[in-house]
Amino acid sequence: MLPKFDLYMPTDLAEACRLKGEGAKVVAGGTDVFVNMHGGKDRSDKVVDVKNIPQLQGHSFSPENGLDLGALTTHRDIELWDVIKKHYRAMFEGCSRVGSVQIRTRGTLGGNICNGAPSADSIGPMMVHDAAVVVAGPANERIVPLKDFYLGLKQLDMKEDEILKRILIPAPKAHSGSFYIKYTRRNAMDLALLGVSAYVELDGDILKTVRIALTTAAPTPIRAEKTEALLIGKPASEALLTAAGKTVLTESHPRSSWRSSAEFRLALLEELTVQALQEAIAQAKEA
Ligand SMILES: Cc1cc2nc3c(=O)[nH]c(=O)nc-3n(C[C@H](O)[C@H](O)[C@H](O)COP(=O)(O)OP(=O)(O)OC[C@H]3O[C@@H](n4cnc5c(N)ncnc54)[C@H](O)[C@@H]3O)c2cc1C
Repeated sequence: MLPKFDLYMPTDLAEACRLKGEGAKVVAGGTDVFVNMHGGKDRSDKVVDVKNIPQLQGHSFSPENGLDLGALTTHRDIELWDVIKKHYRAMFEGCSRVGSVQIRTRGTLGGNICNGAPSADSIGPMMVHDAAVVVAGPANERIVPLKDFYLGLKQLDMKEDEILKRILIPAPKAHSGSFYIKYTRRNAMDLALLGVSAYVELDGDILKTVRIALTTAAPTPIRAEKTEALLIGKPASEALLTAAGKTVLTESHPRSSWRSSAEFRLALLEELTVQALQEAIAQAKEA
């Protein structure tokens, strides 16, 4: 059973920030918050539901500016949006693998980002698409690159009275492609045992831009910048991708858990990095 709490449903963003600053728990879709409250992990007695705040709602795309996503955009919104499948394939692969249809219909990108789980399926895909988050306080707002938003396990670059307002993702570039591979123990609903996201921009055969992000390979979602540097400016040969699979092992720190040993995660990481890059390159060649 859920414990008793006071529920606030403001329409004003500054009011929501004030309530959060006073210790209220923010809730969007509630698919993490209410599970934690139900299980006794979260004993918040004040909850601020942000769904009625207009500045967090809506999502749009323009070929010049890319994606402007309200924090309340759901995984299902992303999964069903043709623009995403066409230009932001990694995001399609990530969001469409979150939980079940019911969870994807309630669960938001803002909630996935702010829950900050290392296994979150939307974060790596958004990181490789160079996402930034707009974080609003009672008076000001600031923009933080998503890759810099995680300070440690479940620690975010967000003050007590700040709320995630929007997510900005640049327009797709010519000859670019992306992919996300989620490895789970079973085909049914499951959290990622490991996930790799890759984004590439091609100039002929040359890898002009490469971004790689890892899920469940460290205490937070991370970019694999050493591996990216190894690849950038070189022709996309099989030997180079094999080398990338080895390099990525030097910049990841998976842990052993009841789901898997660290050794198994590392073996997967080498293989999935090569596969995600191959898929992203194939997408870029078709673009
Ligand atoms: C059965 C089940 C299966 C799941 N499977 C997956 C899966 O496969 N992959 C995956 O990644 N996740 C999975 N999840 C986790 C969850 O559904 C996602 O993390 C979802 O995106 C959370 O979104 P939400 O809107 O429900 O967040 P909420 O539960 O409302 O909030 C999550 C956290 O973010 C904070 N928060 C929310 N919005 C904001 C905001 N705008 N500003 C500041 N803080 C905010 C809340 O305070 C809370 O700490 C699963 C959950 C369940 C119950």
